[in-house]
Amino acid sequence: MSVAERIAAVRAEIADAARAAGRRPDEVTLVAVTKTHPPARVAEALAAGALDLGENRVQEAAAKIAGLAGVQPRPRWHLIGHLQRNKARSAAELFDMVHSVDSLRLAEALSRHAQEVGRRLPALLQVNVSGEASKEGFDLAGGLANRAAFDALLPEVERTLALPGLELRGLMTVAPIVEHPAGARPYFARLRELRDELARRYPQAAWPELSMGMTDDFAAAIAEGSTLVRVGRAIFGERG
Ligand SMILES: *Cc1c(COP(=O)(O)O)cnc(C)c1O
Repeated sequence: MSVAERIAAVRAEIADAARAAGRRPDEVTLVAVTKTHPPARVAEALAAGALDLGENRVQEAAAKIAGLAGVQPRPRWHLIGHLQRNKARSAAELFDMVHSVDSLRLAEALSRHAQEVGRRLPALLQVNVSGEASKEGFDLAGGLANRAAFDALLPEVERTLALPGLELRGLMTVAPIVEHPAGARPYFARLRELRDELARRYPQAAWPELSMGMTDDFAAAIAEGSTLVRVGRAIFGERG
């Protein structure tokens, strides 16, 4: 199958999952994850209408963004991987949205650099709702039931909301690898419940976005309210 055919198939699955959940398919944005794939493959995805592209490393993204400069229509670039603070400046210049804001110090660095380049950078807070040590993100292992972690999270959210260079738009998570995709659903539910609670407490932000779901589990994520699914392998095949 070509990249275009795979994108069409993924879009059809997204639409099915949305309808099954009583949602409109256009409530879910497909972010095609282009990491490790060369600009020529990325151009195929763009030609097939995938205009939201996800990368997990600043340097790799910078090369690709430069390689695709001038392509019309212009893609929107999403940073989905862990960001080191010393790359916050480049990230604030390059990306249309950062999904992986995983500490207050990173949020502060991004805000400062975004202000320097005259922008307000759309951002999501990455939350670790599983407690796996391998996962980045603000800690909320166990979800809202983890009262101590929730109480520790609130001041960090408040300080992030006050940063003038960031436009906080929601939350992001990576679910654990599970045997059956439905097994990931409780983790996505935790992220949605946290978003709903934060939206209630902090109505000054809009909180519309939930970035959750990848190749193996995006249907389960859509059932729990995902608005941004980050799909790599189903579009481009296994990474080398
Ligand atoms: C690589 C990656 C994806 C895409 O994963 P696939 O399994 O290839 O769909 C999604 N989110 C993050 C954070 C990633 O690093």
